[in-house]
Amino acid sequence: MDERVLTVETHGDPLGTIRRILKTIWKNAQLDALLVPTNGSGEIKAKPLLLHSPEELDSFNPFRPVMTSNAARFLPELQTREVSKALGAVLRPCEMRALKGLEKNSRLSTAGLLTISFDCLGTYPLEDYHWRAAQKGPDQLTLEAIQFARQGGIVPYRFRSACQVCQSPASGEAQFNIGVIGLPIRQYLLLTLSHKELEKLISGSDLGLREATQDSITAHRMMVAKVIERNHRVNERIRQGMADIFPMSVEQLVDSFSQCGECQKCMSICPLCAIDKPTRSEDGKYPLEEVVRWVESCAGCGMCDQVCPLHRPLSAFFSFVRNRLHQELTPALSSSGSALLH
Ligand code: SF4
Ligand code: SF4
Ligand code: SF4
Repeated sequence: MDERVLTVETHGDPLGTIRRILKTIWKNAQLDALLVPTNGSGEIKAKPLLLHSPEELDSFNPFRPVMTSNAARFLPELQTREVSKALGAVLRPCEMRALKGLEKNSRLSTAGLLTISFDCLGTYPLEDYHWRAAQKGPDQLTLEAIQFARQGGIVPYRFRSACQVCQSPASGEAQFNIGVIGLPIRQYLLLTLSHKELEKLISGSDLGLREATQDSITAHRMMVAKVIERNHRVNERIRQGMADIFPMSVEQLVDSFSQCGECQKCMSICPLCAIDKPTRSEDGKYPLEEVVRWVESCAGCGMCDQVCPLHRPLSAFFSFVRNRLHQELTPALSSSGSALLH
């Protein structure tokens, strides 16, 4: 593998260091614009933003523990609109997963898109975030998140349910991946490059890069594994609870989608539906194949949960359906050579 893992000294300022990394990459890659998952202006609201100059990164804050949209949802439209521009995207792991889901279904090409990801320390439910930010100030919430990066983040049961069961909170799918989990990030963080050639995009910088030690790589991996294991246990409990409530077949579960209201807010916010929204057939039902494609590519970001007016735990339900689908259908589909799961 051509991967390269580097250590970046943070000198007590991890946020400032991440901004400097991004500025360096921006300048060397000669980007025209960079999509970031939250603005960092210190306001209570936070949303994905397209930046047009590296100076705008001065207020970028990836550790703000709130998520209002999955930024990958904006990429198909951006790539069409800004076709001649050199684009980059900074994405959380679940946003990278959504991007990969879109790519898997041939709905988007990441060729020419520069991707940067960072370990995610989790996000609060919106109302909870607003309340906490109003009490303490948004910057304090960021400081709290950073403070507990070494332990894998703060008390997880306060987070959105999607974050409590997140199976890949660590970066790793992008070209540049910023690692913070399990690390003393006031001293250093890890920067993983998917290919050696990407080194030229961070060269000539004053970042003080050096080869990462095996100890730092191991500390990061072990804490990530611990977080995933903890989240897996929570997920198993939820799945078991759902199995008691929904003792139905996959087909019956998919049919239950058809009985849902007309608001479609879940689809409007879902990054996967940005260009591939399941549509009802004439009988009012969603075709099994379309729902399966959606469920299979689900990034687990939980944005659908956040907007559903009926407070349906949709991402957990999708995870449950996917699991049931694998149990029920995979042997039958693989023996029939169906492309449904691919
Ligand atoms: S689902 Fe995972 S990657 Fe997404 S915000 Fe939550 S913890 Fe972060
Ligand atoms: S279905 Fe929900 S959890 Fe899955 S990608 Fe779409 S918005 Fe995210
Ligand atoms: S947002 Fe909720 S109520 Fe609306 S269509 Fe989706 S699941 Fe149904």
